[in-house]
Parts: sequence; structure tokens; C-alpha cells
Amino acid sequence: MVATSTDPGQLWAAVLGQLQMQVTKPNFDTWLKHTSGLAYADGEFVVGTPNAFVAEMLEQRMYSLIAQTVEGVVEAEVEVRFAVESAWTPSGELADTEVGTGHPHPNPLPQGRGGDDGSTLSQDRWAEGGLSPPALNSRYTFDSFVVGKSNEFAHAAALGVARQPGQLYNPLVMYSDVGLGKTHLMHAIGHQVAARGMSLIYSTTEEFTNSFIRAIRDGTTDEFRDYYRTADVLLLDDIQFLIGKDQTQEGFFHTFNALHQTNRQIVVTSDRPVSALALLEDRIQSRLAGGLVVDIQPPDIETRIAILRAKADGSQQPVSDDVLLYLAERIHKNIRELEGGLNKVLAFADLMGTAVTVDLVKSALTDVVETAAERQIPDSVVIETVSAHFGISVETLKGRKRDKKTSLARQVAMYLLREESQLGQAAIGHVLGGKAHNTVMHGCERIANQLNVDPHLRRDIINIREALAAH
Ligand code: ADP
Ligand code: MG
Repeated sequence: MVATSTDPGQLWAAVLGQLQMQVTKPNFDTWLKHTSGLAYADGEFVVGTPNAFVAEMLEQRMYSLIAQTVEGVVEAEVEVRFAVESAWTPSGELADTEVGTGHPHPNPLPQGRGGDDGSTLSQDRWAEGGLSPPALNSRYTFDSFVVGKSNEFAHAAALGVARQPGQLYNPLVMYSDVGLGKTHLMHAIGHQVAARGMSLIYSTTEEFTNSFIRAIRDGTTDEFRDYYRTADVLLLDDIQFLIGKDQTQEGFFHTFNALHQTNRQIVVTSDRPVSALALLEDRIQSRLAGGLVVDIQPPDIETRIAILRAKADGSQQPVSDDVLLYLAERIHKNIRELEGGLNKVLAFADLMGTAVTVDLVKSALTDVVETAAERQIPDSVVIETVSAHFGISVETLKGRKRDKKTSLARQVAMYLLREESQLGQAAIGHVLGGKAHNTVMHGCERIANQLNVDPHLRRDIINIREALAAH
């Protein structure tokens, strides 16, 4: 569709309409929904964002997709630029708030095609089909799965298998630490396969083991095998529970072969890599390794925020970006804990009849998130990490040089010494080679203020904090 208007607002509405079909709903809602078209002139399109963080994310992760879509709509080459809407002025004085110069980023956000997943299985459908619903969680769909770098491969593989079961990768093995989305993706496959009327068995490995043991006890192993053999798709969750259960492994091996030989799809998850499964049956291990094995890594900060945003938007209370960022910065390794943290905060706010603020989060989550006091980072570590990030030496940071880069690095160090090491102004001045206390105060204030409008600075701070957290 080609727009005849040159009004940036209308053009952007058309662009958003197209983007909505190309990215998943959580990604759209998180990053695109609250953007606007601010200006279009001289081959440059300025997109307004609610804050610097969104601007930076769009620039880093979706630049090429957005630029292509804008070009398609205006039918001309354009440079796209992102600017915080509240700080933007049409006069062109964008120096503090604009983001980048519009270089295509090599790394656009992976696209899950949320729209055509067909993953909206209702209980009614089961009733109609006369099937008994397997224990699939109705919330675990492709639509509600936020795709990021850490899980894009697993997501793509799961989607492929859901669309063409038995034809692409068989078996599909997904592995990761706990709480990173294996079961979610497995159920998403289940919903989609079931929606197409295929027969499906979803079972945890514990259930599988229990029914196998029962079958042995009752002398009904043939029925057991027949039952599992009828499935077009077998989803077996947490296969590490086969470890140490030799008889069940044998049962699984035969079930696996029966299904595999007739091109039925098998999907398993594991909390460790296949090579580390330590199964008695080497044969099982090599069967599993013969399919597609994908892992899911802990999510990066953008994905954590997008997940929280998606969950928060489904709740009654408004939750600000500050709160989400606070949680996302402190809970890294496990999405279940991330969600649990948010739920706890929401419940707490409800109980107290108050708004969800960062202070509330701090008091609600003393046990979940590490409190600042517990994770106080030694000042030497902050100073080293900041110096390394800016590529200057610790001596320079502590010294008297006042070029732009050194001054910025020094102020960032002041700010992080205050936030992460919990030092007072005098102590900060001291560890930074004897700086006056109002220099420190000014430095901290400046960074705190700039953080809200300068996406590059924000990115610097996030990266340094991630490095500190890894410490
Ligand atoms: P695992 O099976 O790997 O232990 P789960 O699939 O049970 O993890 O995921 C834990 C929780 O995190 C679930 O509530 C799930 O919906 C949520 N979750 C995990 N990954 C994502 C994601 N990418 N987007 C949205 N929610 C996710
Ligand atoms: Mg699981």
C-alpha cells in the first residue's frame, strides 16, 4: 500500500499497521504500540518514542525492518531516526535525544509471526472433537512467547515442527536451565497441532514413567505401547527424569522407535544437553542427538523487559518502565522468577492499595531480588569495570584529565559507586583519587538526569551493570 499523504502521523499509522503483522504481539505492544510519526522531510523520518530505552531498542533491534517498512509506505528511500517524543522539538535541535544516524543495524529483532500461529485452542474445540484435552496450559502459546536472541532458534524450531510435524526435525530436543521456556514452547506446539486436529500426547516424563510402571505391574505393556503409538505427536517434557530408570528407558526406546519409524513427531525437553543425560541406553542418546537439538539461553535485558511488559499489560494495575527495569536488572537467570517477582509486586500493591513503584518493589521483594546492601559491589570492581568499558586506564579515571570521554567515564563511575557500592559522596571522591564532594554530587546528578533522555548513556550503564552482575 502506498500512502498519498505526507503527514508523518498518518504515514506512521500505516507503517504500524504493517509492522503489527510482522512482529509478535508482545513485541509490538512493548516496543511499537506507543510510538508516533513526528516528522518526515528531506528523506528523513523521525519516529517518536515514549522514552530513551524504547528508542534505543528500536534502533538496535528493529532498524532494518522499520526502515524497509517505512520505505515501502512512502515509496522512497528514507533514513529513520528515533527521538524521545517529549524531548523532541521540530527545530532540529535533537542533539541530546536523537538516537543514532540511521545506520542499518545488522541485527534486527527476530520475527515470530504471531498472526498465523493458529494457537488459540479452546476447550470447546476439544469437546467438539470428542478428544480429552491433554494437560496443556492455555497461556503457553506462540503468541504469548516473547522472542529474543536467547531463544530465537528454539522458537523457530518449535514453530517449524508445529507447522509440519514429523517432516522437518525429528526428534526435536529443547534444552535449557529451568524456567527459560521449554515447557512453554512445547505446549505451544501442542496447541497448534491439536488445533489442526492431529492426535497428540503430552506427558511429563514422570507421568510417562508412572504409567509404564503401572503397565508392567498390571501386565498391560502392550496396551501401553499401543496407546503411545497412536499419537501423531508425542511431547515428552523433562526427559532427564529417565536417568536411573532403566526399565522406563527401555519402554521409551520402543515407543520412540515405533513413532519415529512412522514419521510421527517426537519433541522432548531436557534440563541438560543430550550428551550429559547419562542414560543407560546409549541408543537413546544417539537417537536424540540424531534430531535437532536446540538450546535456550538466559534472556538478555531487552527480552526480560519485553516479557515483563507483556505480563504487566495483562494486569489491572499500570506498571511503569522504571519498575520493570528494576526487576529485569535484578532477576536474570530465570523467567519463572521474573514473573513471580512481578506477580508478587502486583499482589502487594493490591493488598496495600497503593501504586506500583520502585520503592514498593524494594520492600515487596526483599527475598526475591538481591537487595542493594546484599550485593554491594566493591568500589575497586566498579572502577575497573567502568574504566574497561570506556577503554581508559584506572589511573586516568582517577586522574585529572578532563577530555570528554574521561569526564563521562568518571561521572558514570561516580553514579555507579553511589548506586552499586552504596558509597557516600565523600567516600566516592576519595576512591576516585580525591575529588571534591560537590564534583561528585554534580556528576551523579548529571548521569541520573541524562539517563532519562540519552539512550547511548543508558546502554552504557546497562552494559556495565551486566558486567558487574556477572562479577
Ligand atoms: P522451563 O520448562 O524451561 O523450566 P517454562 O516453559 O515453564 O520453563 O517457563 C517458565 C515461565 O516463564 C512460564 O510461565 C513461561 O510462560 C514463562 N516464559 C518463559 N519464556 C518465555 C518467553 N520467551 N516469553 C514469555 N514467557 C516466557
Ligand atoms: Mg519445564
